[in-house]
Amino acid sequence: MDDKDGVIWMDGEWVDWRDAKVHVLTHTLHYGMGVFEGTRAYETNEGTAIFRLQDHTDRLFRSAHILNMQIPFDKATLNQVQREAVAKNKLKSAYLRPMCFYGSEGMGIRADSLKVHVMVAAWEWGKYLVEDGIEKGIRIRTSSYIRNHVNSVMCKAKANGNYMNSILALQEAISCGYDEAMLLDHEGYVAEGSGENIFLVRNGKLITPDLTSALEGITRETIFQLAEECNLEVVEKRITRDEVYVADEAFFTGTAAEVTPIREVDDRTIGNGGRGPITERLQTMYFDAVQGRSAQHSDWLTYV
Ligand code: PMP
Repeated sequence: MDDKDGVIWMDGEWVDWRDAKVHVLTHTLHYGMGVFEGTRAYETNEGTAIFRLQDHTDRLFRSAHILNMQIPFDKATLNQVQREAVAKNKLKSAYLRPMCFYGSEGMGIRADSLKVHVMVAAWEWGKYLVEDGIEKGIRIRTSSYIRNHVNSVMCKAKANGNYMNSILALQEAISCGYDEAMLLDHEGYVAEGSGENIFLVRNGKLITPDLTSALEGITRETIFQLAEECNLEVVEKRITRDEVYVADEAFFTGTAAEVTPIREVDDRTIGNGGRGPITERLQTMYFDAVQGRSAQHSDWLTYV
């Protein structure tokens, strides 16, 4: 990942990709106190466009606020830098990674007098989960790891340290032969995937867990709007794992995962065992929106 041509923005300057380095005593590297985003840019007929850039930047600032971290740049600057990151690296489609982290000014969990650093990188990233997952659906497993507790870490923040829980769960799922994990909260209700929100379709309605211990996904919110446009009701509620087993359809949403159908959960086939019709409809609407084929949603796109 580090041996590539291109440039990365660090604290106000464009640095050669291979030189975008930090000291080993970087505080966030030791304790995980940092915030980041994951945003995608898609190729459209009118050029490359970043999907819901402002919403991602707003969430980055909310995450920082939750962690009491002061970002030393304003939102307009970071939006502009993200556009330039795509252009300068000559990317037609891209995954963008802004991150705010504490520097190497001091160690210890007091974490005071630390400088907040900001970086933005962009690279090409294809399908996130499995190559044919978008059409065929994926196989998932209930994780033995409980989703981060709301009072242990801050679930509304997209914070670096929160992802230790995600990595443990995903690695476990993969080592057991599945594509992704489904994490339950401390009370045993379905929370989310390791990096995705989850939706079920049952009796023509969409059902998704409330956001107690899941990230406020921007793709999740996009699906809410698309569902409304096709008169699909969305219910946010607590979901049990057996409710997932008997769903007619299920899918994950996320910037990286996009809209990925779930065809099997804990070795039980979901619905028709592939991509369900409502999932397919929403997926098509989603790809139309991100790839600029939906005039109605042009305000979601920021052209590079
Ligand atoms: N939950 C978690 C834990 C995530 O990491 C992500 C990816 N950011 C999501 C849900 C989906 O969020 P979004 O749709 O904003 O990418």
